[in-house]
Amino acid sequence: MTYSKNIIDNIFGGIRPTSRALGKAATTIQGWYDSGTIPQKHWADIINAAKSFDHTLNSEDFFPKQLSRLESFGYPFNKLHCLSIDDFNRPDIETLLSLGAHYLDLNIQKNPNNRVLKGKTLINLFFENSTRTEKSFELAGKRLGADVISMQIANSSVNKGETLMDTAVTLNAMNPDIIIVRHSASGAPALLSQKVSCSVINAGDGIHEHPTQALLDALTIKSAFKKISGLRVAICGDILHSRVARSNVKLLNMLGAEVRLIGPKTLLPSEAETWGVNIFNNMKDGLEDCDIIMMLRLQIERMSDALIPSKREYFHFYGLDKEKIAYTKRRTLVMHPGPMNRGVEISSEIADDEKISLIKKQVETGVAMRMGILHALSNSQDSIK
Ligand code: ASP
Repeated sequence: MTYSKNIIDNIFGGIRPTSRALGKAATTIQGWYDSGTIPQKHWADIINAAKSFDHTLNSEDFFPKQLSRLESFGYPFNKLHCLSIDDFNRPDIETLLSLGAHYLDLNIQKNPNNRVLKGKTLINLFFENSTRTEKSFELAGKRLGADVISMQIANSSVNKGETLMDTAVTLNAMNPDIIIVRHSASGAPALLSQKVSCSVINAGDGIHEHPTQALLDALTIKSAFKKISGLRVAICGDILHSRVARSNVKLLNMLGAEVRLIGPKTLLPSEAETWGVNIFNNMKDGLEDCDIIMMLRLQIERMSDALIPSKREYFHFYGLDKEKIAYTKRRTLVMHPGPMNRGVEISSEIADDEKISLIKKQVETGVAMRMGILHALSNSQDSIK
C-alpha cells in the first residue's frame, strides 16, 4: 500500500472525509490517492488535521517506510533549476535521492504511472546526440503525466550559439514548465535558464557537468550498497572530456565517498588536483580496495589531438577486464554511464556479467531518478507561484 492511500484510508477514513478534513477538493485527494504521493507543500496541513483524528504524523510518514531514516524529510526543497551539482546542498541532494528511491519502488509496480506533473509541459532540447538520457527524461515525464515534446537538433547546421538563444525565445513563448537541454557548449543550460521563465535541467553541457547522471549513479550505488559514505569509488579513463566525472566527483565527495581518478596523464585535466580526489596513472595501484569502478567512454569526438597511442594499446593499459578487476582484491561493482566502447574501455565479459555489472541497473534507476528530479522542481514551481 502506498503511503498516500494509507494516510487517506486509515487516518481520515477515505477520500471524502479527507477532503472535508483538509478543505480540499475530492478530486485533489483522489489525485494523491492514485499517484501514491502527496506534494510536500500539503504535509504540514495534513499533519495538523491528523491531530484532530488522534493521529500523530510526521514528515517521515510521507515516504515509503524503508526510506524513512533519511534526515532530510520535511526539508523545503525550493530549487527551480538543475544546472550543476553546485546548485544543491546536502539536504537538497538527500531529498532528491529519497524521491528517486520512492519512484524506483513505484516503477516496479504494475502500473507505475501517476499524475504529479499532469498539465505540465516538458521540452527535451538535445543539441547533441543522446539515446538513454533523452528517452529516460521522456519516459520519466510521461510516467508523471506531463506532456513531453522532444526536439532533435543535433544535426542542425545552424551556428549553435545563435540557435540556442533563438530557440529559447521561441520555446519560451510556448510556456513550457521544464526545458531539458543538452549542448556541446559548457554553460549553455545556465545561459538558457536566464532567458526563459521555466525550469531548466542540464542534460549534459560540453565537458562541464551532467548532474542528473551523477544523481542516478548515486542512487544506483545507494541501492546496491545501502550507503555511499565511506565507499571507495574509482572513476577511470577519459576524465579530461567527461562531464559525468566532474558531476560525480562533486556529488560523491559531498556524500562522503573516497574518490579516485585513474587514467593516463594525457586524459587527466591538470585542475583535477584541486578536486579533493586521489589520482593514479595505473590501474593496478588505483583499483586496490575499491568498492565501485566507474568506467568512462573514450570521447574520441571531443579529442582534437592524438591523446592516446591506439585503442588497442589503451585497452591494454586502461580497459577493464577480468585481469584488472582482480587488482581490487575485493568484491567490486562496475558502472558505466553509456554508451560503451566495448573492447576499448571495458570488455564485454565484464560489462555483461550481471553479478558485477550495474550498467543495466543504472538505466533503470535513471528513469526513477529523473522522475524524482522532475517532481522536486515542479513542486518548487508550485510552491513559489
Ligand atoms: N552519456 C554520457 C554523456 O552524455 C557519457 C558519454 O557520452 O560518454 O556525457
